[in-house]
Amino acid sequence: MKNRNHKIKLSLAICTVISIFACSKDETTTNKDTTTTTTGVPVTSVVQSKYTSAVTISTSGNSITLKSNGTPDHVSPYYGVGHALYEAQMAGSTLNPGTIGVQNYAMTIPTNPVEATTKEVTALGAIGMALNGVPIYNDREGGNVPVDAGVLGSFDRAGAHPGPGNTYHYHCTGDFMGNDDAKLIGFLRDGFPIYARKDMDGSYPSNLDANGGHIGITADFSTAIYHYHASNTAYLGSRFYILKSGSYNGTKGTFTQ
Ligand SMILES: [Zn+2]
Ligand SMILES: [Zn+2]
Repeated sequence: MKNRNHKIKLSLAICTVISIFACSKDETTTNKDTTTTTTGVPVTSVVQSKYTSAVTISTSGNSITLKSNGTPDHVSPYYGVGHALYEAQMAGSTLNPGTIGVQNYAMTIPTNPVEATTKEVTALGAIGMALNGVPIYNDREGGNVPVDAGVLGSFDRAGAHPGPGNTYHYHCTGDFMGNDDAKLIGFLRDGFPIYARKDMDGSYPSNLDANGGHIGITADFSTAIYHYHASNTAYLGSRFYILKSGSYNGTKGTFTQ
C-alpha cells in the first residue's frame, strides 16, 4: 500500500512536470512557428546533396520526387547466399521468408514542408525514404500491431527486413544509417528530415513532441527546422531503436511502388 501511494505521488509529480514543460514549450516556440509554419524551410538543396546516387531526384513546382529501387547499399542476410552484399544473419536472430527485391519507388515531398493543422497518424507501409533509397516504416507490422519480439528477431543489423513482395524496409536504427549519433537518416513523406538519436551538439534531445520531433538547427539546416529523431529507448530491451512512431508533423506526399 505504501508503495502504491508512492507511485501515485510520483505519477502526479511527473504529470505536473510534463504540463509545466508543455506550456513553456508552446510559449517558446510560438515565435519560431510564425516563420517555419507559414513559409517553411526549403529542403531541396539538402535532399539533392545528401541522397546517394541510388536515388534519382527531380523537382517540379513546389514538390520534389525521389525515385529508387529500394535495395540497400550495405550488407544484409536478406540478399541471399552468393550475393556480393550477403552476410550471415546475427546469432540468435532468424530470417523471415522474404528477400531483397528490386522495386520501383517514387516518393513526392514538398520543397518547403510546413506543419499541418491536423496531424495524420502514420500508417503501415512506407512513411519515408532513407538516404540510400530504402523505405522507412513506422513501429507497426501487418495487422497494424506494434512490432513484437518475433518480428524484432527477423531484423538484420540494419534494423530492417523484407515485407510482402520482397519490399525491404527499415523499422529501426541499425549499424549503417545512423544510430547513437546525429546522422541524417532520410526524409519522411511530409518533407521533414529524420535524424538519429542525437542532436549535432552530441546531446540527446529532451524536448521531443509526441511525434518524436522538435524545431532546431541541424548540421544540414542552419535555419531552425522541424525534424524527427529516432527513439532513444531500446525497443523491448533489444539492440534496436524505433525510427518513427505516431503522426506526421506535416502533410504527407505520395509514395508509390
Ligand atoms: Zn516490417
Ligand atoms: Zn534535434
